[in-house]
Amino acid sequence: MNYDHAYHAGNFADVFKHIILSRMVEYLKKKEKAFRVIDTHSGSGSYDLPNMEAEPTPEWIDGIGRLRDWKPTGKVGELMEPYLSAVFEDGKPEGINGFTYPGSPMIARRLMRKQDRLSAIELHPEAFENLKDLFKGDYQARIMELDGWLVPGSHLPPKEARGLTLIDPPFEQPAEFNRMIDAFEKSAHRFSGGTMACWYPLKHDGDVRLFKTLLKEAKISNLMVFELEVARTTFTPSLYGNGMIIRNAPYNLEAEMIAILKELVPLIERDKGSGRFKIERLTDE
Ligand code: SAM
Repeated sequence: MNYDHAYHAGNFADVFKHIILSRMVEYLKKKEKAFRVIDTHSGSGSYDLPNMEAEPTPEWIDGIGRLRDWKPTGKVGELMEPYLSAVFEDGKPEGINGFTYPGSPMIARRLMRKQDRLSAIELHPEAFENLKDLFKGDYQARIMELDGWLVPGSHLPPKEARGLTLIDPPFEQPAEFNRMIDAFEKSAHRFSGGTMACWYPLKHDGDVRLFKTLLKEAKISNLMVFELEVARTTFTPSLYGNGMIIRNAPYNLEAEMIAILKELVPLIERDKGSGRFKIERLTDE
C-alpha cells in the first residue's frame, strides 16, 4: 500500500467527488431523522497543500486552485455553498499556499447536524493515525483501522437505517472494479434503501466499459453514472477524468449536478473546450 492521497488532495477529482458528496449529505438533511456517512477509504482527513512552486506541479492547482475566485450565484451558488463553506471554512485564502484541504470524512463531518454520525475507515497506519487525531474527542465520529472492503458485508445496515456509503479506493490494483461490484451487491442485499457511491478514474476505457457491463449483468438496481472529463483522451492512457456510480442517488442529484457542471466544466477543464460531463442511468429503479 504505497498510495498517499496527499499528492492528489484538492485535484479535479477531489473537487468533483466532494461536490457530489456534499449534495448527497444535504439531501439526507432534508429529513430530521439521523443518518450515518460511512467512508470506507477515508484517507488522512486533512491535507496541507504543497506550495505552488513545488515539484512535480501540485495537482490542486488545476483543482480547488481554479475555484478560489469563483463566486457562483443564484441556484448554483446555493448548491455549491455547502461544499465551498466546508472547504473554505475560514474564508477563501489570499494566496492558497499554506492552505489545508479537507478530505471526504472531514467534508461530510462539517456538513452534519448533531444527530448525524460518521464512520471513517482507513487501512494505512499513518493515515489512520492522522484521522484518529483529527477526530479526537468527537463523539459523532467513529474512526476505524480496518480493510474498507469488509464494510459492505459487515457494517451495513447502519443502526440509523439511513445514510450513505462512499467507496473511494486508490485504484492501485486492477481488482478494485470487481470489489466495487461485490460491494454494490452486498449493499443492495443488506441495506437496500441506502445510498452507495463508488469513485473510479477515467483512464483505461476498456476497464470502465467492462465495469458498467458487469454491473448491469449483476442486475443491481437503480444505478446512475456521473462522469466529468477535464481533458481529451490520448493514445497513451492518462487520467482524463473521473466518475462516480451511485446506487439510490437522491432523485434531485442529476438536475443539481447538471446545473453545477455547466458552470464548473469551463473552470476546471485543462484546455478550452476539452472538458465535458455525462450523467446517465445505468440500471432501472
Ligand atoms: N476518500 C478520501 C478523500 O476523498 O479525501 C481519499 C481516499 S484515497 C483516494 C484512498 C485511501 O484508501 C488511501 O488513504 C489509502 O491508504 C486507503 N486504503 C487503501 N486500501 C485500503 C483498504 N483496503 N481499506 C481501507 N483503506 C484503504
